[in-house]
Amino acid sequence: MEKWFNEIIDENVFDIGARTSIKIGKTLFEGQSEYQKLEIVETPKFGRMMILDDCVMLTDAHEYAYHEMMAHVPMFAHPKPEQVLIIGGGDGGTSREVLRHESVKRCVMVEIDGLVVEKSREFFPALTTGLDDPRMELRIEDGVKYMEDKVDTFDIIMVDSTDPVGPAEGLFSKDFYKKVYAALKPGGIVVAQAESPYYFQKTQRELFEVLREVYPYTALYLSAIPFYPSGTWSFAFASKQHREDSQPRWEDMKAMALELEYFNPEIYKACFALPNFVKRNLQF
Ligand code: SAM
Repeated sequence: MEKWFNEIIDENVFDIGARTSIKIGKTLFEGQSEYQKLEIVETPKFGRMMILDDCVMLTDAHEYAYHEMMAHVPMFAHPKPEQVLIIGGGDGGTSREVLRHESVKRCVMVEIDGLVVEKSREFFPALTTGLDDPRMELRIEDGVKYMEDKVDTFDIIMVDSTDPVGPAEGLFSKDFYKKVYAALKPGGIVVAQAESPYYFQKTQRELFEVLREVYPYTALYLSAIPFYPSGTWSFAFASKQHREDSQPRWEDMKAMALELEYFNPEIYKACFALPNFVKRNLQF
């Protein structure tokens, strides 16, 4: 019998009523941590798939469309990113991309749920290659708490979180983004996964309301990610000083693009172009 995984965008919660449906095979792991339900399943076409609390996090086949875009856009917008912080990101994909950059001296990853890291190491070896890099500092703790006392420490902060419910709720608050601001060095940049511009417009408006109260510069960029609801996903970009067009390192981008699946200099330029409905929703 055929088995399908349905990610349901509940009409009672989001006023949407839609499903993303992916054909699946065997379940490789199913467990409940202190924070969330984790499932890892096989799919016939997309390799293994990770699901947290009934939401698809990634597939082996297309995870690059998320991780490359989360990491390389801010990394190349910055002249010399040395100190990088990832909040969440327990599957390892974002850290793998960050560590491709030779300028990086330290990459701290603060993931609340040790089970996600443990099972990613076991079932997603291609994503977790960076976790044993000597520049990596992995901490299993709440990202909100970790930010409490950090001042002038990081060049780039990436908020690679789940949706704004459960443990990730605090990662969308003004208080959190104020602490992120304090933790960034003067040329620092923060990026955060910012949901679907088609389905989650209210969440996006709320996030940008918060960001604009704290940061002098904000932008939004897009990626096409087939395993997320609506297939179009976005990332918020906020900074104290650098804009995406201030001094991007085009030559370095070109060189790294040879080893990547999605990101290249043309994508860097194009991903900040927004459809009118997105501009209107977020007042760009
Ligand atoms: N790419 C994904 C997406 O947008 O669907 C995100 C994947 S990543 C696995 C998200 C991670 O954020 C999860 O492993 C979750 O445990 C972690 N997370 C959620 N809240 C957190 C918090 N307060 N502090 C640190 N990590 C958190």
